[in-house]
Amino acid sequence: MKIQSIRGMQNLLPAQTRRWRWVERVIAGVFDGYGYEQVRMPMLESVDLFKRSVGDATDIVEKEMYVFEDRGGDRVALRPEGTAGCVRLAEEEGLLFNQQQRLWYTGPMFRYERPQKGRYRQFDQIGAEVFGLPGPDVDAELLVLTAEIWRALGVDDAVRLEINSMGSPEARAAYRGRLVGYLEPFRDELDEDSQRRLETNPLRILDSKVPRTQEIVAAAPRLADALDEASRTHFDAVQRLLDQAGVDFEVNHNIVRGLDYYTGLVFEWTTDALGSQGAVCGGGRYDGLVEQLGGKPTPGIGFAIGVDRAVLLCEARQAFPAAVDRRALFYVMPRAADTAAAMQTARQLRAAFPGEGVLLHLGGGKFDKRIKRGLATGALGAVITDEADGTVEFRPFSEGDRIECPVAALVPLLRQRFSQLTELSE
Ligand code: AMP
Repeated sequence: MKIQSIRGMQNLLPAQTRRWRWVERVIAGVFDGYGYEQVRMPMLESVDLFKRSVGDATDIVEKEMYVFEDRGGDRVALRPEGTAGCVRLAEEEGLLFNQQQRLWYTGPMFRYERPQKGRYRQFDQIGAEVFGLPGPDVDAELLVLTAEIWRALGVDDAVRLEINSMGSPEARAAYRGRLVGYLEPFRDELDEDSQRRLETNPLRILDSKVPRTQEIVAAAPRLADALDEASRTHFDAVQRLLDQAGVDFEVNHNIVRGLDYYTGLVFEWTTDALGSQGAVCGGGRYDGLVEQLGGKPTPGIGFAIGVDRAVLLCEARQAFPAAVDRRALFYVMPRAADTAAAMQTARQLRAAFPGEGVLLHLGGGKFDKRIKRGLATGALGAVITDEADGTVEFRPFSEGDRIECPVAALVPLLRQRFSQLTELSE
C-alpha cells in the first residue's frame, strides 16, 4: 500500500504556493509599514508552556495538542498557537523588562481537530504580539493594522470586526461565580460539552452553538454588566479610537475566546464567504500572561490570522492580481537548437525585469511543441532567439502584434509594451 499524507495535513502545489506567497508578502508589507519586527519561534515547545498559558481546561490543551515524549524523555508539544511561544521567547531573550516590543511571526500550528475545508490539523498563522503597552492606543493600533491587512488583500468588504471586553481577572472571577449559579439549575438541559465546562471553563458556554444552550444563555447575567470600572473605561476608549480611525466594528458580548489567558479586550474578524469556518482572525489582551509564565508583570496584546483561510477568502473574492497566477512573464526559446543564445537573452530579461519569472525552454523538441509548452505557463509571450542572424522575436500568447528586432532592441521594446507591468506584479 502507498503511504499517504496524514489526515488534516495539506500538500500545497505550485499554483497554490504562488497565492500563499502573495498573501504572506502583502501581510509582511503591512507589518513593515507599522514598524513591527519579525521573530521566529520553534515549532516544538515544552507541554507545560501551553498548559500554563493556553490553559489546562481548554479544548486546545485537553483534546487537540500533539504531545509526545522525545528521545530524551522530555514531554514536548507541537505548538497549537503562537502567543505562548512568543511570550516565552521574549522573556527568555530579555525583551520584556521595561521595554516595548511590537513583534510578528508566521508559521505552522498544529491542532488535532476534525478536518474539513478551512480547518486543518496543520495550518499556518500570521500573528502579532505587543508587549509593554497597557493603554487603549495599542489595542486600537492592532485593530487598525488588521483592517489595513484586509484592505491590502482586497477583501475588506468581506470581513467584519466584533469586539468585547473580558474585564479584569477579579471581575471575571466574580462573574464566573454568578454565571455558574445561574446555569446550575439548567445543568441537565445543557449540551454535554457545556455540562463539562460548567466545572472547567464556564465562560465558554456563552459562545456555544447548540440551540437549547443558546436559549438558556440568552437570559444569563451578562459579562458586560460585570465589568470593572478600569476595563469599562479602557473598552470605551478603544471604541472611540476605532471610530476616529474609521474602522467599523460591532460589540458582541458573547465573544469570550477559547483560551484562558485573555483579559480586557478580545476580538474576532469573521467572514460569511467561507461557510462554517468563518473566523479569519482572533486576538485580545493578556495582561497576566507574562507573569503567569514566570516573568515580571508585563501588559501584552496580540492576534493571529489564519493564513489558510485568508488565502481561501482571497480566492472566494477573486482578490489575486493576475500576475500571481502567472508562472513566468516570458518564455524564452531558441528558434532552432542553439540554447546558448536563448540562455543569454533570458539572463538579460531577468536583469531588466527583476522579480519577474523568465522561463528558459529546456529539453529540445519540435518548434510547435515548444510554443505549446510556453503557452501552458501562462506567460505573456514567447521570446524566440535566432542565433543565425542575431535577431529575436517576441510572439505574444494573447492579443498584440509580434515584435521582430535585433537582440539589443528587445528590452526597450518590451518595456514600452508592458509599461504597466509593475502594477500587475504587485
Ligand atoms: P485561534 O488561535 O483559535 O484564535 O485562531 C486564530 C485563527 O487561526 C482563526 O481565526 C482561524 O483563521 C485560524 N485557525 C484556527 N484553527 C484553525 C484550523 N484548525 N485550521 C485552519 N485555520 C485555523
